[in-house]
Amino acid sequence: MKTFEDLGLMPELLSAISELGYETPMPVQEEVIPYLLEADHDLVALAQTGTGKTAAFGLPLLQKTVISENKPQALVLSPTRELCIQIAEDLREYSKHLGGVHIVPVYGGASIRNQIYELRRGAHIIVATPGRLLDLIRKGEADLSCVRQVVMDEADEMLNMGFIEDINSILASVPSERSTMLFSATMPEEIGELSLKYMKQPREIVIGRRNEGTASVRHVCYTVHAKDKYRTLKRIADFYPRIYGIIFCRTKAETQEISERLIRDGYNVDALHGDLSQQQRDYVMNRFRLHNIQLLVATDVAARGIDVDDLTHIINYSLPDETEVYTHRSGRTGRAGKTGISIAIINMKEVGRIKAIEKIIGKKFEIGKIPSGNEICKKQIFNLIDRIEKVEVNEDEVAEILPSVYSRLQWLDKEELVKRLVSLEFSRLIDYYQEDEDFDAGNHTETRKDRVRKTSGQAPESFSKLFLNLGKMDGLNPQKLLMMVNRTVPDDVEIGRIDLFSRHSVFEVQSDMARSVIDGLMTLKRNGRQIKVDYATEEQVARQLERKKQRKDARSASRKDRSVSGKATQGAARK
Ligand code: AMP
Repeated sequence: MKTFEDLGLMPELLSAISELGYETPMPVQEEVIPYLLEADHDLVALAQTGTGKTAAFGLPLLQKTVISENKPQALVLSPTRELCIQIAEDLREYSKHLGGVHIVPVYGGASIRNQIYELRRGAHIIVATPGRLLDLIRKGEADLSCVRQVVMDEADEMLNMGFIEDINSILASVPSERSTMLFSATMPEEIGELSLKYMKQPREIVIGRRNEGTASVRHVCYTVHAKDKYRTLKRIADFYPRIYGIIFCRTKAETQEISERLIRDGYNVDALHGDLSQQQRDYVMNRFRLHNIQLLVATDVAARGIDVDDLTHIINYSLPDETEVYTHRSGRTGRAGKTGISIAIINMKEVGRIKAIEKIIGKKFEIGKIPSGNEICKKQIFNLIDRIEKVEVNEDEVAEILPSVYSRLQWLDKEELVKRLVSLEFSRLIDYYQEDEDFDAGNHTETRKDRVRKTSGQAPESFSKLFLNLGKMDGLNPQKLLMMVNRTVPDDVEIGRIDLFSRHSVFEVQSDMARSVIDGLMTLKRNGRQIKVDYATEEQVARQLERKKQRKDARSASRKDRSVSGKATQGAARK
């Protein structure tokens, strides 16, 4: 196995990555780093997120940067602002001992003025989303005339998001004497076309997935409003009466809060986090190993040492900050020849993160349907019946006490006895689920306010209606719209009603985020069309309602027509 020194990296970079804890190169780094250091080659790499590709292209980019030349020399294109920021941060970490390499990220949905200011101060490496970079080029603020290295990261995603024209325009501003590197998780035909168009004899490398999800694990995702996460967790725990697993939280505080709430609500759980003494940890772990605790609420760090083989469930109450950590969590179930379920409870904003996880595990998540109160109560009762049927009765042990029990209960018949047993065991659950209205994953609980909103067409005060120039004919659906918002707006945004028409749509967003959503979406293109979004005018909303009404009327008229014509044909056939 090679070391980083063997790959030809300079000492400043070696010390930076060693400080980051990188000990040995990952496969993509072992292949790509020496190849890129050797000369200005072109490269097409099939590599998933989490394989170490940022360092694979980033370290050679940095090593080739001439600090005294105060002009952009390298350009990294990324599909989303999150990835853009992440790459820029990684490059800054790697370059910290190089002394004065300026890395400037530019992306949509944030102030362009600040980015212009940063670019004017001088950038050696620009990391950019295509739409914003094109804006800056057009304004004369991004000078790519000295760029010698171009990286297209997650190229397949950039194509999916309709950035191809932007990429073409950007590459037209970069000298053709350059090295072009393309990283992609999949290889659709368009990637081949892109490499034919822009690359000279690129070397093609394929890096296998580093973290395959275990075949014996099912991955299930429940998408709910943030406020419904805890209710969802309880329903899942109730639906699996024999659950034995770990609930992962992001922080100590969240671990503490969730475990306390669950204990208060009568669940058999305990918490494991960094604030416990070694003795307390051992105590909790022992009880968990002995199945005296059904659910352990833990942070990733605290759960590191847990070596239990028969966990039925892993619950991601919060997704981990690093996508890869998901595979460590889910890999704790489905062990030793058993099957397991790894559950993610997410809010709408996190749908994009599930996609990233799917890429790493190489599997699709099943869409979880939140069990209804009725289903939960039934499942629990049948579990009790099952236990009653299967219990091994130790005659000797109970022989002595049984006569007095019989005599005490002799006034109750069998039905009455069963009724009381069920009530005793399930009164907490039945009471709770009588109060707690059912709700669906993805289709959030419809409150009375929402219902009023649907009929009146009025957005509630905290929401604004936006008009978007894309509709069903452009392949838009609610999921895609949410993904577009996820990609372009970094903060949590609540989306309300979405009405899709053939060529446009009207949707609600939480008012204080409406501006960011407009700015974010305006950075995108879809099917070559510039996306236009703005506050919906009263006229647009009125027209939207009118069209809906017309469609509804047309549907019911056509239903009537169909039934009339059906009768007529029958009559004719009888003749
Ligand atoms: P990437 O595919 O670039 O997103 O990298 C995935 C993760 O692996 C990031 O958290 C990197 O910091 C980390 N990483 C990259 N290279 C190495 C390495 N050689 N050793 C350990 N961790 C690494």
